[in-house]
Amino acid sequence: MRRQLNRQVVEIAHALLVLAVATGCRQSKEPTDAPEAIETKTGIRMVAIPEGWFEMGSDAGAPDAKPVHKVWVDAFLMDTFEVIQDEFKKYQLPDPSHFKDPRNPLEQINWTDAALYCNERSRAEDLELCYDEETWRCNFDANGYRLPTEAEWEYACRAGTSTRYSFGNNPGRLRSYAWFADNSRDRTHRVGQKKPNRWGLYDMHGNVAEWCNDFYSADYYKDSPDRNPRGPSEAKQRVLRGGAWNSHPESCRSSYRTSDPSIDDTCLASDAIGFRCVRRAPQKKVTNPNPERANMVNTNANTGFVYDDIYLEHKTTPGHPERPERLAAIVDRLKASGLYTQLLLLSPKRAATEWITMIHSPQYIERVRESCQNGTQYLDSIDGPISPKSYEAAVMAAGGVLCAIDAVMEKKVTNAFCAVRPPGHHAVEDRAMGFCIFNNIAIAAKYIQKKYKLEKILIVDWDVHHGNATQAAFYDDPSVLYFSVHQYPFYPGTGSETEKGTGQGLNYTINVPLLAGAGDDIYLNTFQEKLKPAALDFCPNFVLISAGFDAHKDDLLGSMKVTADGFAQLTRIVKEIAEKCCEGRIVSTLEGGYHLQGLADSVEAHIRALMQ
Ligand SMILES: [Zn+2]
Repeated sequence: MRRQLNRQVVEIAHALLVLAVATGCRQSKEPTDAPEAIETKTGIRMVAIPEGWFEMGSDAGAPDAKPVHKVWVDAFLMDTFEVIQDEFKKYQLPDPSHFKDPRNPLEQINWTDAALYCNERSRAEDLELCYDEETWRCNFDANGYRLPTEAEWEYACRAGTSTRYSFGNNPGRLRSYAWFADNSRDRTHRVGQKKPNRWGLYDMHGNVAEWCNDFYSADYYKDSPDRNPRGPSEAKQRVLRGGAWNSHPESCRSSYRTSDPSIDDTCLASDAIGFRCVRRAPQKKVTNPNPERANMVNTNANTGFVYDDIYLEHKTTPGHPERPERLAAIVDRLKASGLYTQLLLLSPKRAATEWITMIHSPQYIERVRESCQNGTQYLDSIDGPISPKSYEAAVMAAGGVLCAIDAVMEKKVTNAFCAVRPPGHHAVEDRAMGFCIFNNIAIAAKYIQKKYKLEKILIVDWDVHHGNATQAAFYDDPSVLYFSVHQYPFYPGTGSETEKGTGQGLNYTINVPLLAGAGDDIYLNTFQEKLKPAALDFCPNFVLISAGFDAHKDDLLGSMKVTADGFAQLTRIVKEIAEKCCEGRIVSTLEGGYHLQGLADSVEAHIRALMQ
């Protein structure tokens, strides 16, 4: 990943940049059509909320709404209005409400009675009960009524928006959408009198706060699952969402969450607390005309694919070979070849600082953040141009690899490829190097060991450059076998055959330096003769690949002659090792590769081999 630019390279880069910008690779994020409204057997109006991704939480809000993270929610039905007093009384349940009116929202309701109502409504419609009436545990597989999860509630409230309220950021407009402290005259009002949100749901921002099914935890967002999160398994309090007649605008926001032990499940519940019900969307045969959405739920995929538009926001200087168009070329190729719909798309989260500090010093992490914020142009050297969002991209690049590991460990997929940038294998403890900021692969190895208690990690690094920083991170560590094949002598200068590790780690670093000009035969031979026996002897619990494709014959920086098919063959050898030792668990992450066509060819071949 070394910049050795000449005028021709700059010109090529510019030409390709124009081409790539023209083709574009943005994914659409927001469903725009208003969802369908339905009426249930017992005459209650519900909205069919579509499945999808959304950004949950708010970095500008209270600490418990941080960090913002992408969440997938399956399709479900949600009550158009808050449950009203008339409906509640249908089931001979005593109405606890303070502000009596048949069309007013039910209030002073404790959580358990809300759950009981859900069951009664399920019974009346011959649906399976979601709640066990002794433990009050929720069976999410049942098709009956239940309280929404926090994620479902916020997703429905936002209705495709990412602003503070479903109608924008201006609290001045709240009067049109909600009954709250400024306009309620200190009481609830009949449901449905204010404007609905874009999906046709009324009173989400006011009237009464609404119970969710989840237990409350102030720091749950930090490591909640990215698909259908359902809150912590145990806690004392349940979550409330949305504002109430006595709320200030701040508490009416889409991401606002609260829980109050004094009101949770006691007979003293407040007259500002009500609820609405949800139920699973009826199963339907999907003939989705939009493959981008269809593949998000591709549960048959064997291989995961990590990508996010944030990776394009790490901008380098004009003509720099490590540029956003690299990822555009990969995504476009996967779509054009039809592979994209056969992969499980994995949406990355930010890597928590505790994982990044397994490899990098806190001072360095802070320095990267500040440099990006200050608009500094280069980080540590002229090789490393940065832009205001480079820090975010780097944290998400590391997080992307961790997310792929989670998907493999949770057996959602057998293996995964991470199309991330900036790359990582040159980034040392306290300094950026090459085109790298955080060492994604080294962080990943530590993460597997610490989070999943798997001891032995094999890192295969076939980037044309030696992964000096990955080697350094594990040089005395016998739990990580680092194998690198690279052009030598070449940037960064390390990686001679005599570098074999030290102390306990002796012989757990294997370097195979190759002279410029090596092609498929030499690489394959190296993998068969050197990697395979050492790796099988080591027998890893997990395999990571630092997949740089700058050894490709057309690459702008490297001088090797590997073909796309050569990379596929190398992949098969690594797969064979993983299958023999660790049930095929591989996470491969992009490092270098600067010839857009050569990169796209190689990644396609690599992914096809992973999928087989
Ligand atoms: Zn490289």
